[in-house]
Amino acid sequence: MAKRLTHNTLIIGNWKMNGDTARNEVLLSELLPALSNLKGVDVVVCPPLPYLSQVVHLLAPSNVVLGAQNLNHQTAGAHTGETSAGMLVDLGCHYVLVGHSERRAFHGEHDEWVAAKFAAALGAGMVPVLCVGETFAQRQVHETESVVTSQLNAVLQRVGIDQLCRGVIAYEPVWAIGTGETASPEQAQAVHQHIRQWLTLQNAKQAADCRILYGGSVNARNAEKLFSQPDIDGGLIGGASLDATSFIAVCVAAQR
Ligand code: PEP
Repeated sequence: MAKRLTHNTLIIGNWKMNGDTARNEVLLSELLPALSNLKGVDVVVCPPLPYLSQVVHLLAPSNVVLGAQNLNHQTAGAHTGETSAGMLVDLGCHYVLVGHSERRAFHGEHDEWVAAKFAAALGAGMVPVLCVGETFAQRQVHETESVVTSQLNAVLQRVGIDQLCRGVIAYEPVWAIGTGETASPEQAQAVHQHIRQWLTLQNAKQAADCRILYGGSVNARNAEKLFSQPDIDGGLIGGASLDATSFIAVCVAAQR
């Protein structure tokens, strides 16, 4: 296995469909001073689309970066209610989630569509965060590795290994998202190791440098053990990113 680059740990807060202008301001006024002295951690927050402009201004004096939760893969045109990658860049986004399991499950996003979004985000200069993961039923019948591999493969086929690794991969077991149920550090590491080995088959150097985050009910109590696993390079945090004390504790636990 190629020697791994020592990236900063990456922590991404996914606010989902939560917040309003007043609550966003309070949350960030508590978070930003506490996150300003972190060592070896990069922090991103992904507010809902209507608040991107508000949040980018609040983040301006800080080291925290803006991300979005979704995009449309097309550049412009008759797509009512949709948002292009170029628009997100215009609003100050550096990262964007693609293929989150809630979008795959409730908005019909299939692998090819997710791959098109990944390509569109890269094309606009953003870092796409590709979410992959199995359902509980799939884990029960030992399909975790095949499900994750086929989700990754759809993006590989579309963009190739160099571009895939310019993004970030987030392993998020569906059964652990928003349920309070977390993969144990060993369960998570096993899947991360599988992903790293699969990437290595494509290109060992890229695989070593590719960032693979874990997501699924990460909180102040379990973060440190998860982040100390050799193939876990950070976390995608939902519920705990809405509470300043919890999110600060997760970010502190991510310090190398
Ligand atoms: C998520 O939304 O990506 C997520 C991991 O949520 P939670 O931390 O609440 O499980």
